[in-house]
Amino acid sequence: MSAFRILLLTTLLLSIAAGYILNPEKRIDERIYLKEIAPDIIFSGEKGNPPHYISSEGIAAFNTYDVTPSIRGYAGPIKLLLALNPDGKITGIKILEHKETKNYVHYMETQQYLSSFLGKGVTDRFEIDKDIDGISRATVSVEAMAKTVRESSRIVASNVYGIDTEPTGIKTAHDIKWISYLLLFSLSLALYFITRKTKKFLRIRDVCLVAGVFIIGLYLSTPFSILHVFNLVLLRPSSSILWYVIVVGTIISIIIAGRIYCGWLCPFGALSEFIGRLPFKKWVVPIEADDGWRRLKYFLLASIIITVFITRKIEFGNYETYVTLFSFHGNYLTWSLVVITLLANLKIERFWCRYLCPVAAFTGILSRKAGGYPSRHDCPIGNKPMPLISECIRCNRCYKPHSPH
Ligand code: SF4
Repeated sequence: MSAFRILLLTTLLLSIAAGYILNPEKRIDERIYLKEIAPDIIFSGEKGNPPHYISSEGIAAFNTYDVTPSIRGYAGPIKLLLALNPDGKITGIKILEHKETKNYVHYMETQQYLSSFLGKGVTDRFEIDKDIDGISRATVSVEAMAKTVRESSRIVASNVYGIDTEPTGIKTAHDIKWISYLLLFSLSLALYFITRKTKKFLRIRDVCLVAGVFIIGLYLSTPFSILHVFNLVLLRPSSSILWYVIVVGTIISIIIAGRIYCGWLCPFGALSEFIGRLPFKKWVVPIEADDGWRRLKYFLLASIIITVFITRKIEFGNYETYVTLFSFHGNYLTWSLVVITLLANLKIERFWCRYLCPVAAFTGILSRKAGGYPSRHDCPIGNKPMPLISECIRCNRCYKPHSPH
């Protein structure tokens, strides 16, 4: 293991330890929010199984995390405070806490959206796009929230009011999503190995890149993000199959084929590369300067590792431009960053991937030493001759089985 990897691993472990000591997870005291979901109601102290507060009118209020802790969104449980009347109808709802990426779930947090749950009963199905509005680009989070409301209120209604709540076998909408990701991922991996054998099909990588833009970027809105890694390290996995397919698939792909995700699937990398192919004369960055600037992405990764793990606030790691772009949500600053980093490709190929991307740094660090990639004049990421394997995005243009590295 290189000295740099050891240094980064040590930084990671020390930051995690410091975070546990300085910022331990605290339980939110839901009592202070009872007035928000039931303004004129006075509740007793918490009691019962599952734990709940009850009013003289028979309204039960509870923290869903006490009832269904295993239901998770994209980054752990979505904790809600719910009020339920004796007929099993929801009369109040508030999000207490979640770790989902704000760009994707900003509408889910609004009172307007939460109001759509009011009046629903425990025998309702809570199906997305039927009983509850779906939110494109936040499917996993919305489904997790609807499931949390449905399952927790059924358990409380059954235990507190004795209401019979038969499970209704809800189908979720995102099976097609993880299957489409898995198909694209498997196809790209297969084509990667084919193009190592023959240069005839090299152009097929463009098909994968275009599919990455449409499927991963626009349809699924889930490009692999450093936040996936942070949630994994902080033991905040999702209960979504799509999440596991993306995280496990990408990590396996790095072990097998280094930065193949960057070179074949990443939708932002694809857009960067296509823009870079427009006929604008490129700046020639001197090799020493280019080497130095490429280290910037590792410095940025180390910085957000320290910040995120010490504060235990995942949002501090969210500077990735593709999150703004593919969530269609950001502020002036983040949208400006998107525009600048895309236009920069007109002058420097794959500008974001080369110098700034935390996923590029992460995949680069984990890339195993491999020979056969000497680079060439049309390298899509502007690699110098005999580059470090951590800088190669495995387009296979230069691959020669027996060439030294
Ligand atoms: S070093 Fe070779 S395989 Fe790697 S990105 Fe450049 S041209 Fe493609």
